[in-house]
Amino acid sequence: MTVYLVPWDSGRNLMKEANRLYDAAGTFDCVQKDDLVAVKLHVGELGNPYYVQPFFVHDIIRRVKEAGGKPFLTDSNTYYHAQRNNAYDHMVTALTNGFNMAPFIVADGLRSENYRLVKTKGILQEIEVSGAVAEADAMIVVSHDKGHELSGFGGAIKNLGMGCTPRAGKLRQHRTVGLEIDESKCIGCGKCKEICEMSLPEIIEGKARNTSPLCMRCPMCKHGCPMEAISFTHQENICRALASAAYGVLSTFKANKVSYVSFAKDITPYCDCLPNPGEAVMKDVGIFASNSPVSIDAAFLGMIDYKVFNDASHVDCMLQVQEAKDLGIKGEVKPKITKIS
Ligand code: SF4
Ligand code: SF4
Repeated sequence: MTVYLVPWDSGRNLMKEANRLYDAAGTFDCVQKDDLVAVKLHVGELGNPYYVQPFFVHDIIRRVKEAGGKPFLTDSNTYYHAQRNNAYDHMVTALTNGFNMAPFIVADGLRSENYRLVKTKGILQEIEVSGAVAEADAMIVVSHDKGHELSGFGGAIKNLGMGCTPRAGKLRQHRTVGLEIDESKCIGCGKCKEICEMSLPEIIEGKARNTSPLCMRCPMCKHGCPMEAISFTHQENICRALASAAYGVLSTFKANKVSYVSFAKDITPYCDCLPNPGEAVMKDVGIFASNSPVSIDAAFLGMIDYKVFNDASHVDCMLQVQEAKDLGIKGEVKPKITKIS
């Protein structure tokens, strides 16, 4: 299953090159007349400059319309309390970051309660799929390739698995991971409790404890601990959960109705959801297009030294790709890559 690539070369008109890429990959072949087409993207966290540049998205919207579809921008709310935790704040963030080229419909509704529960395969038995995604006729998944603290890597599979699920689905996935506090390192300072939006860790006899079933396995307390006493366990589970959720999301579409475009630019070790993701850790690679999430993610990872992601996250970022393949999502873990020259 071929993946097409425009190498990132600012000596070329990348918008024109991107259009040649879409033609070669058949990106808009999934769109038929009057289809309601979800253009699934991440509109960026306020303060984080690394997200897909709006002019590329503008052109994707134009191409969907040319193909006869009715495009809308979409994403699901975050499960943690930040700038995209409800539809109002999410829409303000989208507009502030320049995404005004089509209606922005928050896929899971005002307070993340609009979803469809579907059966899936793998580590999860079922997954909540955000309503506007589940109801769309076709979808163009526009991803920004980068590292991710929990899963090693975030690309198309994560954009499906995490990005197309509401708060309940995101929690279901995150809770496959464990959280451990190393008592020998903990000095009982209470910073983890201060930073946790639910004040979950308890300080008992000078040591932090967290046994609450409400814990979201967000990285906040881990980041805030001055002694590096907090760590995640069983991180491989969230890689499997992403693939499992992605399978469920794709089950809401008919065959060949989802297409993928990934931008490997401004590649940071951590995710777009942080306001401060750190410096880019490698050169910009390019723009990929494919009709498979497995192939498009594998193509990017196959072109870079992804050890930098693995070292930052302590998990193998190829695991989610292999798991998606093993579950039967179409694609190859060693795809053919055709460069648009
Ligand atoms: S991971 Fe830490 S900060 Fe996040 S909910 Fe759990 S205890 Fe709170
Ligand atoms: S922030 Fe770290 S050192 Fe401080 S109480 Fe929490 S776990 Fe212990």
